[in-house]
Amino acid sequence: MFDYQSHLAARVQELKEAGNYRVFVEIERLAGSFPQAVHHHDGNQRLITVWCSNDHLGMGQNPDVMAAMKASIDRSGVAAGGSRNISGNNHNHILLEKEIAELHRKERGLTFITGYAANEAALGVLGRRLPGCVFFSDEFNHASMIIGMQQSGAEKHVFGHNDVDHLDFLLRSVDRDRPKVVAFESIYSMDGDRAPMVELCSVAKKHNALVYVDEAHTVAMYGPEGAGLAAQLGVADQVDILMGTFAKGYGTAGGYIVGADAVLDAIRSFAPAFIFTLAMPPSLAAAALTSVRHLRHCNEERRQLHARAAQLKARFHQAGIPMVCDQSHIVPVLVGDPHHCKQLADTLLIEHAMYVQPINFPSVARGTERLRINPSPVHRPDEVDRFADAVDLVWTQLGLPRTRHSTVVE
Ligand code: PMP
Repeated sequence: MFDYQSHLAARVQELKEAGNYRVFVEIERLAGSFPQAVHHHDGNQRLITVWCSNDHLGMGQNPDVMAAMKASIDRSGVAAGGSRNISGNNHNHILLEKEIAELHRKERGLTFITGYAANEAALGVLGRRLPGCVFFSDEFNHASMIIGMQQSGAEKHVFGHNDVDHLDFLLRSVDRDRPKVVAFESIYSMDGDRAPMVELCSVAKKHNALVYVDEAHTVAMYGPEGAGLAAQLGVADQVDILMGTFAKGYGTAGGYIVGADAVLDAIRSFAPAFIFTLAMPPSLAAAALTSVRHLRHCNEERRQLHARAAQLKARFHQAGIPMVCDQSHIVPVLVGDPHHCKQLADTLLIEHAMYVQPINFPSVARGTERLRINPSPVHRPDEVDRFADAVDLVWTQLGLPRTRHSTVVE
């Protein structure tokens, strides 16, 4: 008889032996004093500081966002009550979709329960419903994009990461008349590096391809009104479908796409991940709407985010702590070994009450294991300094190598 449990346990054991098993760190965020959180461990509790949250602007504890969510619960309760097509379509969804369409200067917006679902749904429909569709996908694209393209069954060509010439070459190799979709991210989550968006858009348009950009790591945080990197670089009109999430800079949850009415209507009509699932709870839509509106008129959180990131990167540069890249608000410290990476993170947590999650394979390539640090406006400048001191100290204790000149490892 096949032993299901021991078979699966053996697969997990392989992960453990490779140092890639993920251990949950149990925390309780404290509204109003985040990045402080309560760490629950072995029946004990203590206060820690979180350095790896995707709530990049601290909007998850913005008083207006919290008040909007509470007010919506008081008015509408906690349930969406169904899918968007069957009783779950709340007035708040419509307001939120109008707001994001306006923010990005596109005809229409469409929200999803997660950003993962948005990518999977949108790319899946394009691949299945455009006859003979061919995808051109950056090799470092997020899993949700890769899975959406794969599941559509459409032909896919992978271009070298941020390699505009390679994309041009691949586009030229495919029949001019076939529908083509070029898919990439604006800032990549693991390295924190930027896409050459102007050049990628220009090459895509030269070949009459549709441009699909995942701005999960840039909306709220870059560009005028938080409209993202394409808007900052002046190429938003070249982007046919822009994907964003409310789960990072906006500090709430849910995902979205914006684009032409006809394209989004097709995605809404054909995507299983939109049709066969619950609508976002109305209270969450209210919270996301308040966050988007706040960040459209207020630059302060964005200013502080980039100031804190610059401060931390400067400290690491001075100390010769190697970073994978230093082009954005994401600060990826390169350790290069899963065991050392875990030791570094464990020591920071146990001895310094500072929590930063190690990032291992398959999220990043083997040998490039790292700590991905997310400073934010809710980390005070003196806390950033104390954190940099602690990393410096533990780096020495573990005997990890330093870089002497440029600390950016390309
Ligand atoms: N795209 C990218 C580039 C991401 O990093 C993520 C989240 N890690 C997603 C999409 C999915 O977003 P969400 O968390 O809203 O599902």
